[in-house]
Amino acid sequence: MDERVLALCELSNDMLFHKIPREQLPFYVDESLKAGRETARTLAGRDVLELYRESGIAIREGGSGKRSYGLILRGQATMGKEGCSVEIYRDSIEALSLHSGGDGEAALTYDEALRVHLAHEYFHFWEYQNDCSVVERLPAVTTLSVLGLHRKARINRCGEVAAHAFAKELLNLPDLPNLYDYRYLIDTGAMERAAFDRLCAEMAALLPAE
Ligand SMILES: [Zn+2]
Repeated sequence: MDERVLALCELSNDMLFHKIPREQLPFYVDESLKAGRETARTLAGRDVLELYRESGIAIREGGSGKRSYGLILRGQATMGKEGCSVEIYRDSIEALSLHSGGDGEAALTYDEALRVHLAHEYFHFWEYQNDCSVVERLPAVTTLSVLGLHRKARINRCGEVAAHAFAKELLNLPDLPNLYDYRYLIDTGAMERAAFDRLCAEMAALLPAE
């Protein structure tokens, strides 16, 4: 599937999505994808579990994933001076893997789904450890203009798009991995396939044809 469309699907979840000038949407999509992809290329061929070991990021088995805004939380990342760690919710990752197939593609195995999650989180650790936040690097958008004063804010979901692109590149995935989240939602009945198709068509219409 078109990765720019999937990236825009992710971006559309941002609270400030509608504040991004339409003509700048491709810029935010492309820059976010590029940031994730280029970081992954510096680590090409590396095993994600090895990257965790080397960076001293602990992986802990957590309890059950808590539901948050209708989506299951698959893990919780902690970053701080006392160290970085990620807590993994085994049952949530298993549920995602079971429902991650579709469009003629086989579902991910548990191990693959775990690696997708770990690679995504690793990108956020990398941003933190290198003090190199994608969200902060991209220009802020104006959220309010009153009497010549402009209030500006950052687009937080750009960091998610970059993390998806990082995971895709590092793990050599066929698609941006938020596609697995949509398949999960569709397969478990939380989202209708037609609604997803509508969303994709809507997002594709916002991007100029390449
Ligand atoms: Zn993330």
